[in-house]
Amino acid sequence: MSARRLGPTTRLVTPLLLVSALTAFAPPPATAPTAAPAATPAPKSAEATGTGGAVASVSAEATDIGIAVLRHGGNAVDAAVATAAALGVTEPYSSGIGGGGYFVYYDARRHQVFTLDGRETAPATATSGLFLENGKPLAFGDAVSSGLSVGVPGSAQTWQEALDRWGSRSFADLLRPAERLAEKGFVVDQTFHDQTAANQTRFGYFPATRALFLPGGQPPTVGSVFRNPDLAATYRELARQGTAALYRGDIGRDITSLVQRPQVDPASGWNARPGQLSTADLAAYRVRAQAPTEVDYRGLDVYGIAPSSSGGTTVGEALNILNTFDLAHASSSQYLHDYLEASRIAFADRNRWVGDPRFVDVPTQGLLSQRFADSRACLISPTSSLTSPLAPGDPNNPGAGCVSSGTPAPTTTEGTHTTHLTVADRWGDVVSYTLTIEQTGGSAMVIPGRGFLLNNELTDFDFTPAVAGVPDPNLPGPGKRPRSSMSPTIVLKDGRFDFALGSPGGSTIITTVLQVLTEHVDRGLSLEQAIAVPRISQRNRSVTDAEPAFLGSADAQALTAIGETFTLNPEIGAAAGIQLLPDGQLQAAAEPVRRGGGAAAVVDPAPTG
Ligand code: GLU
Repeated sequence: MSARRLGPTTRLVTPLLLVSALTAFAPPPATAPTAAPAATPAPKSAEATGTGGAVASVSAEATDIGIAVLRHGGNAVDAAVATAAALGVTEPYSSGIGGGGYFVYYDARRHQVFTLDGRETAPATATSGLFLENGKPLAFGDAVSSGLSVGVPGSAQTWQEALDRWGSRSFADLLRPAERLAEKGFVVDQTFHDQTAANQTRFGYFPATRALFLPGGQPPTVGSVFRNPDLAATYRELARQGTAALYRGDIGRDITSLVQRPQVDPASGWNARPGQLSTADLAAYRVRAQAPTEVDYRGLDVYGIAPSSSGGTTVGEALNILNTFDLAHASSSQYLHDYLEASRIAFADRNRWVGDPRFVDVPTQGLLSQRFADSRACLISPTSSLTSPLAPGDPNNPGAGCVSSGTPAPTTTEGTHTTHLTVADRWGDVVSYTLTIEQTGGSAMVIPGRGFLLNNELTDFDFTPAVAGVPDPNLPGPGKRPRSSMSPTIVLKDGRFDFALGSPGGSTIITTVLQVLTEHVDRGLSLEQAIAVPRISQRNRSVTDAEPAFLGSADAQALTAIGETFTLNPEIGAAAGIQLLPDGQLQAAAEPVRRGGGAAAVVDPAPTG
């Protein structure tokens, strides 16, 4: 069923009309950006087309704030920081200054892509046995709601670093709209209610968390206004003192004291293991500026995040594999078969080779080489699915033929939620930024009086070697960053912006980005359409996740007939992206349904009708 194999790819030469329509915007005013009324954002729309800049996120309030920054002359980095700070208010279970993330930036003037790794790190005292108790690994659930799972947060420093390098507004100015939003509140929707309800038990263990998110002991009702004055005060403190307040000041001391002595309601009986995060760990934390991953996919330059995330190398390797197939002319089921197989293979290699490069020798260039991809692509049969777990290849020695060697490493437990935003400005600069506190609700520990949740990112480490006797690049270590799947992506055509996207969803982030990207590039769907199609996800597991709308389809039957086994996954990912249209307009695209629907907006909408 495999699609026709292709020879070497050729570069597309479609001319670009990028910023002509975007540059006609007025010069920046001297005043700071202001937020739209917090409780009454513009109605959510999954698509918006126009000029002057664009924002796509999951939250109407956060998107509105990003658009206001762009409208007042801020650039994409300014708007991304303001949007991210607002997501800390409206998406507190998925992001915020208690967590971390990966920031990808396209600088239109320099035609260059830069990245920041703002991943959380383990304390200096962490060992490979961080999650062992009496020699046995902790149950995942026991580790999540604890001080032990909390890594040094990276988000606030990421925002400051991005602004220092590429921004045009002050950190303080850009926190202000989110501070006001936290003060005024936002209207609780079904998604926020449901996420709270899903965490009700563990939020109840911690009095500060219960007080904030379970008013009267219950999740906030849909339609009520949720205010977070403590977070507003925390943002004010950060605005006054800068990130030093968190990495060397009072906020930091509050973080470490809660991690070391979790404040649990004794009546709950919950054993919240303490962590060893110290003020020295916070002071030592540095966001890492590093080169993006880059692959050539059908003449497009696809940029992603290098390790410590596995996003860029895994999406990149899968694209290199798919480079050898003609997906544009394949039948629908042929295309999907090749997509699943490329992902299966890339995950086999990810699991064996990718971890924090400061601690393990990650063969990033090898994983991204076309030669290695060719040595893996030839495993794909048109008439049958590969069997998982599939053994990894060796990117250091790709060899000439089809190679799998060693012992397969399964894809280990990962959370399922975080959040993503994409921003483009009138000058053609673009940010693709995925941020998280890991699990929906993170560690479930709100710092008393501070209004934000601490992450449980360290549970992204493997608690024990994934396969006994096989080197595991993702064991805990002192100051180490756990392997991520976050895949903020920017795609250029002839050195200029073409489209950008990203998604939440734990390890399904990688497959979501891969599927949306290939649906768009190969199957001719607009980004908006590509985001909407039913998703399937293969991560070197014996079963392939599939959304309900896919199960029972003709494609599902065709793939089942050649050996694929599907398992229901109610919802895979929640993508948000922006594409440049051939006429120079920007089209922002978000989810129509998943995660309650996303919010896409542009500064100057195109006339309708
Ligand atoms: N912790 C996950 C990662 O870094 C992201 C959170 C999620 O989407 O589950 O890959």
